[in-house]
Amino acid sequence: MAKTVTIAIDGPAGAGKSTIARKLAAELGYYYVDTGAIYRTVAYFLDLLGISPKDLDGVSRYIDELTVEIEYDEAGKQHMIMNGMDVTDEIRTPDISQKASLVSAHAVVRDMLLDMQRDVAKKHNVIMDGRDIGTVVLPRATVKIFLTASAEVRAQRRCDEMLAKGQKANLQQVLKDIQQRDHQDMTRAVAPLKQAKDAVKVDTSDLDIDGVVAAIKTIIAGKVKA
Ligand code: C5P
Repeated sequence: MAKTVTIAIDGPAGAGKSTIARKLAAELGYYYVDTGAIYRTVAYFLDLLGISPKDLDGVSRYIDELTVEIEYDEAGKQHMIMNGMDVTDEIRTPDISQKASLVSAHAVVRDMLLDMQRDVAKKHNVIMDGRDIGTVVLPRATVKIFLTASAEVRAQRRCDEMLAKGQKANLQQVLKDIQQRDHQDMTRAVAPLKQAKDAVKVDTSDLDIDGVVAAIKTIIAGKVKA
């Protein structure tokens, strides 16, 4: 099998990873894998069972009852399938964001999800976004990007997204949630959020989406022969 091209995009919540990765994937004809959605699916499953994401015994006891699959629809949109049920929309709440951050700190959860992420990247050219893609999941990725922006800019973007969807949003609360999630994701013992040594850092605070996509395409073009 020919070696696939793998693009790892890591960074904190709200840096623009998914918007940018999705656009890049469409332009390059690669698969887009949003790995945060996988952790969200685990958090949602445990939540339905009433298990606290901090309860390691509970998480360990029930995690084997869960099957997580990724499917793509005709438009290329990623769907998350939890024990055969499509939960793509249900996992997109602020409550599940926080629970995903807590549940993803457990090694038992991360270990279970590692192979499924690597398998997609073995079979297809991928743009994969998350927190540990360049450091743990695909340490030999063709290109690694660390996408970041100030917490204030990220909170403002998240609020705008929520308002655009007709949801309620309070900037101070969203900022607090983002800072809490950053802290949890950066300080956990297993696979913390950090820039891989060989990743290129792109600060999106003062760039628009097209500017970031263009910057990353230039980085990719320098590494991938057409
Ligand atoms: O990217 P998203 O905000 O959907 O991710 C939800 C949570 O899942 C993150 O806050 C993080 O704790 C966890 N996550 C992770 N590793 C990844 C992707 C997400 O730990 N590769």
